[in-house]
Amino acid sequence: MGVEGEAMSGASRLAVIDYDLCKPTKCHQECIVFCPINKTGKQKAIESDPSNKNKPIIYEDICIGCGICVRKCPFKAISIVNIPRELEEDAIHRYGTNQFKLYRLPVPKKGKVLGIIGRNGTGKTTSVRILAGELKPNLGRPEDPPEWDEIIKHFRGNELMNYLRDIANSRIRVAHKIQYVDLVPRVVKGTVGQLLVKADELGIAKEIAKELGLHNIWDRKISRLSGGELQKLLIAAVLSKDADTYIFDEPSSYLDVRERIRISKLIREFVKNNRYYIVIEHDLSILDYISDLVSILYGEPGVYGIVSSPYGVKNGVNYFLDGYLPAENMRIRKEPITFKFARQVSDMTKKQHPFLEWSNLLVKRGDFTLETEPGVIGEGEIIGIIGPNGIGKTTFVNTLAGKIEPEQGYVALLGDFKVSYKPQYIRAEEYEDKTVYQVLYEANPDAVTPGSWLYMELVKKMRLDRFYDRRASTLSGGELQKLAIAQTLARDADIYLLDEPSAYLDVEERLSVAKIIRRLTETREVAAFVVEHDVLIQDYVSDRVIVILGEPGLRGHASKPLSLKEGMNRFLRELGVTFRKDPDTGRPRINREGSYLDRMQKAKGEYYM
Ligand code: ADP
Ligand code: ADP
Ligand code: SF4
Ligand code: SF4
Repeated sequence: MGVEGEAMSGASRLAVIDYDLCKPTKCHQECIVFCPINKTGKQKAIESDPSNKNKPIIYEDICIGCGICVRKCPFKAISIVNIPRELEEDAIHRYGTNQFKLYRLPVPKKGKVLGIIGRNGTGKTTSVRILAGELKPNLGRPEDPPEWDEIIKHFRGNELMNYLRDIANSRIRVAHKIQYVDLVPRVVKGTVGQLLVKADELGIAKEIAKELGLHNIWDRKISRLSGGELQKLLIAAVLSKDADTYIFDEPSSYLDVRERIRISKLIREFVKNNRYYIVIEHDLSILDYISDLVSILYGEPGVYGIVSSPYGVKNGVNYFLDGYLPAENMRIRKEPITFKFARQVSDMTKKQHPFLEWSNLLVKRGDFTLETEPGVIGEGEIIGIIGPNGIGKTTFVNTLAGKIEPEQGYVALLGDFKVSYKPQYIRAEEYEDKTVYQVLYEANPDAVTPGSWLYMELVKKMRLDRFYDRRASTLSGGELQKLAIAQTLARDADIYLLDEPSAYLDVEERLSVAKIIRRLTETREVAAFVVEHDVLIQDYVSDRVIVILGEPGLRGHASKPLSLKEGMNRFLRELGVTFRKDPDTGRPRINREGSYLDRMQKAKGEYYM
């Protein structure tokens, strides 16, 4: 437990209680009863707090960190960590007694884009809220919060001192694109045009709107926008502000690959020498493309987070994947994440049993037409689908499943296939009053039967049992996503369709979900389709890909299943973007437009190396 690696000349205790999980009326207060310090009868390291519904409070200066309370609590509400004493001097913020604690801050640099990566719950948003002047840091002392004078003095000799002084004196203007764009329609009324005109301090909103395709929906009400449209609208609004610091918290969610690259290019074009830019992003190819520098947040989600020193972007992302930060001498993960693995099959028919076969198809839905090339899918195969929203991905999968009758062509080997579908947008309201347990039970009782295969694969691996009693509608974006994925995969079906399973998940969660999808599909010998706009994850999860191109809402053309390289090549040629492979990790990296590699690969027709 605790931070390894850094020299430990002594440790201090960090005790964090998740008060959402703690339920003193449903336990026997084991945490208090079994504490060895309490048992001595002389002192109390932990006691119940009548002002907080008798939930416990832990005195960190008395607690010896034995971890007995952590193990005894039936709801896993307590975490105890030993922190090197030197690190305590770098405490930046604590939300309250026995609450999450942040150490160190990212250091923005003028004229550079600073990328921030790290697991959810390690303090990325907390850090940027401090740098945005939205949260006054208390230096880890919620009981005795310092004034700005003291805070600034604390940063003496640190590059951040001047920045924070300017924040304290409101001399830095900040434009901040928040993470949860779905929340915006609840608080902002009016149309796209009205919001952009209001935000437009630089007189460029119309131009950006055009660049992002928002001019077509200029008069549309904000309440009627899709997630992707909201995302683009907010990015456009932030870029039109005349600010000193620009912050983008997860700018790629809900955007397809083309749009992700478009907004990345746009942000890069805006970089000016005398401004600061900060981006939090889990799509590593996008983060890699936008940023000049990266800081990595590590620690224990919900307990503490430490900000690494800034690294150059290439090395920073590689260190993150490798799981070792050299400047800190810190191992942040046991296993490295690597993309250098042999692709399983590129021509399924040789190795696997066909599961589904179809001819050229013509499918009509209202004004929308989908044409497909013929194809075969093998048992246990995962097919990635690449293409924008509204291009016919759902229509295609429902046709294969026999839910939609094609106008022309046929689907062979057609049983009465059941489809289990996770939509792109998960509406918390649709879960009504159901708890996480109920949602999973209704999907498949096996999923909540301890020891069963499904329980181990889904509930345990995604750690959903912690939330069993929580109402599903109160979960955060990432938690809700994991529940919806588990619910979809728990159902008994023949074809699984997961639309953007990675939204709101961090890199480790994305990879872990990718592995779960792989294992379930292979073991059950079914077929899965994964719509995924994070190229790294698409590369990781899919055996082959189908590329759907065309005009969203009007017509789509679906390729046959192609090898990843062929499919990506076809798709990227349309976009005029090239990717190379990083020699150390094997991860895909976007080439800068017009760079030597970009020109060479385009000349050879190799858009995806
Ligand atoms: P990230 O952006 O890396 O996901 P956050 O900065 O949002 O992380 O949150 C870090 C931790 O701080 C989380 O465990 C969260 O529960 C906790 N936290 C965030 N805001 C508050 C708050 N207002 N009060 C108490 N805890 C909070
Ligand atoms: P995707 O999954 O790629 O987002 P869909 O297959 O859901 O796309 O939809 C493709 C297009 O077909 C959209 O423009 C959608 O509005 C239209 N469409 C889908 N289903 C119907 C339907 N039942 N009636 C009319 N239009 C439909
Ligand atoms: Fe009960 Fe655990 Fe809360 Fe202690 S921390 S009161 S054992 S739920
Ligand atoms: Fe008591 Fe040990 Fe828990 Fe500290 S870690 S509160 S000493 S049981």
